[in-house]
Amino acid sequence: MTDHAPAHDEGDIVYPSAIPFVLAHLACFGVIWTGVTWTSAWLAIGLYWLRMFAVTGAYHRYFSHRTYKTSRFMQFVLAMLAQSTAQKSVLWWASKHRHHHRFADTEEDVHSPVHSSFFYSHMGWIFARRHDRFDASTIQDLTRFPELRLLHRFEIAPAILLALLCFAIDGWAGLVVGFFWSTVAVYHATFCINSLAHVHGDKHYVTGDESRNNWWLAIITMGEGWHNNHHAYQYSVRQGFRWWQWDPTYYIILGLSKIGLFWDLRAPPQAVIERSQALPPRVIERSAERLAASIPVERAVAAFREAYAATPALSELHLPSMTLADLRGALADLQHRAGGRFAEMQQQAQEAWAQFSLPSREELQERAAAMFVKTPSLDAIAARAHDLLIEAMHAKLVTASASPRQG
Ligand SMILES: [Zn+2]
Ligand SMILES: [Zn+2]
Repeated sequence: MTDHAPAHDEGDIVYPSAIPFVLAHLACFGVIWTGVTWTSAWLAIGLYWLRMFAVTGAYHRYFSHRTYKTSRFMQFVLAMLAQSTAQKSVLWWASKHRHHHRFADTEEDVHSPVHSSFFYSHMGWIFARRHDRFDASTIQDLTRFPELRLLHRFEIAPAILLALLCFAIDGWAGLVVGFFWSTVAVYHATFCINSLAHVHGDKHYVTGDESRNNWWLAIITMGEGWHNNHHAYQYSVRQGFRWWQWDPTYYIILGLSKIGLFWDLRAPPQAVIERSQALPPRVIERSAERLAASIPVERAVAAFREAYAATPALSELHLPSMTLADLRGALADLQHRAGGRFAEMQQQAQEAWAQFSLPSREELQERAAAMFVKTPSLDAIAARAHDLLIEAMHAKLVTASASPRQG
């Protein structure tokens, strides 16, 4: 973004596009007049699970992550089924979701509860003007199918067809309870993955974001609750990595592969499951950013200034034009003096240096070990965090020294 607009302008919600969504919620209260019939109750339960599978098995694991293959006909069936949930087109869904994985829990994330309110990450983002359109360049593997482009143009048609079918089966109760109740329940179960699964639960893998594993979310979403697993390896058809991690979406996909409807199911590498594989550079970078952010760099800057003023060798440095290499040299010099010839330093410099609080690489490694779960990349995270801290110190020292002092 070049215009520095806030990534999550929560006032930018396009209300007209939210009207059908609000009406779907209000329609649920129609039960006051229709009552609940046995048929409508079974319709609601059946359509909840069928379409929860459509969200996780189709929108998510097929269209967004391509974790298995199927025929063009079945692909169309999956798209119809997915769009019967009224969660927009598979093209829109996949493009927004791929974006989420690229920028998970950064400022750019489309729905991060870390950078926006819980409400916004749960559902507000869907109606934001900036999410009206999608970036077609990220889903060229999908836009090449004319039938998917057609479904994008008439994205609500499958949901309307299903609503009419429910009405045909059980009248107004079929429509209100069978269709609207299950649709709204599927909405919120899906949205919980974007909001709750980035807030509540456990982290088993270092993913550089706030994704969590949450067993009860896995139950109501047919396996999507193993969201930390999923962020650790998004190309896996199964999100429950362990045998006890309930993942019925995977069991269904596996079952359908046995009768030849699906094939080429992608499994997570054993090294990923066992956390013995080095992390991707992007995850190391984000984790290092988190580690560095937990250190108060201002205190190190203040102590450096005092040590700088009290140490004749350092005051030869011109702070506003100091390069990053100069700062590294000065820090190494300070460390050397403190370690070997502390006594030679003036009392004032000794005290300033004793206050210097930038953690060493070794201290950062210990901190990283406490902050993150097991990974062979802890040292790489600590080393990068150390660099980031020195860069942050440098930026503060140079800009503060260059700007005229107030008062
Ligand atoms: Zn996520
Ligand atoms: Zn995903």
